[in-house]
Amino acid sequence: MINRKKTKKEKKNFALKNPNSPKEKKLKYVIADAGYASEENYLYAIGEEKEPRFELLAPYQTYLKEQSKKFKKDLSKVQNWKYIEEDDCFICPNNRKVVFKYYQKRKNASGYIQDLKVYECEDCTDCPLKNGCTKAKGNRRVYWNTIYEEMKAKAKAALGDEQKAALYAKRKVDVESVFGNIKGNLRFTRFLLRGLHKVRTEFGIVAMAHNILKRAANSQTNFKNKETERMEKLIVFSIRSVFMDFLDKPMIF
Ligand code: SF4
Repeated sequence: MINRKKTKKEKKNFALKNPNSPKEKKLKYVIADAGYASEENYLYAIGEEKEPRFELLAPYQTYLKEQSKKFKKDLSKVQNWKYIEEDDCFICPNNRKVVFKYYQKRKNASGYIQDLKVYECEDCTDCPLKNGCTKAKGNRRVYWNTIYEEMKAKAKAALGDEQKAALYAKRKVDVESVFGNIKGNLRFTRFLLRGLHKVRTEFGIVAMAHNILKRAANSQTNFKNKETERMEKLIVFSIRSVFMDFLDKPMIF
């Protein structure tokens, strides 16, 4: 087989089909909303063999809540309790020790297994704070996911960084408005096809429709500006993405 250099067109096609290929430019950040901030996704972003895939900028479910005064004052939240590393225990609001008892595995809906540490208060009997602390009849238990908590702390630090926070804020404008248009105005709320390949093609057609409509709206201004030029490129990109697979395959009759 003759080894020849890839043409520019072939390189582009390769990058589109293999977004994470080491031969192509690596992703630096993936910006997503809280729905994607799971332990599995954070770990996937970190990658294996200490080779990070990308940085996942996604706030976990309770990220905003945790910033509120109400949450910070809520003594029933373990996040507000003191932790003593030497004894591996928390100190509850009633100054009692909540000690490590055992490990537990929990499978989530996607089949991912989480490792939890289960802590239990030494004695909740006669505690005047019990009603606000736990609904359990016995002692209060805490299910602590060490790995996820570490991931959450990293995500919190990243989102607190000025530059990264600005990137995340940009997503709300760039991405959410497109989702809003596609779901609200075009009423595309679910995929009709199944399977990655078919879904990709289906969404490519939707993206094409979105871009053509945007181009049409821009053309009403009667002059060609930078946004119009960008839209034209996007339309060509959408069409190529949708039909690339068909073009690459021989036609069989
Ligand atoms: S219920 Fe138990 S864990 Fe909660 S504050 Fe009272 S003693 Fe502490």
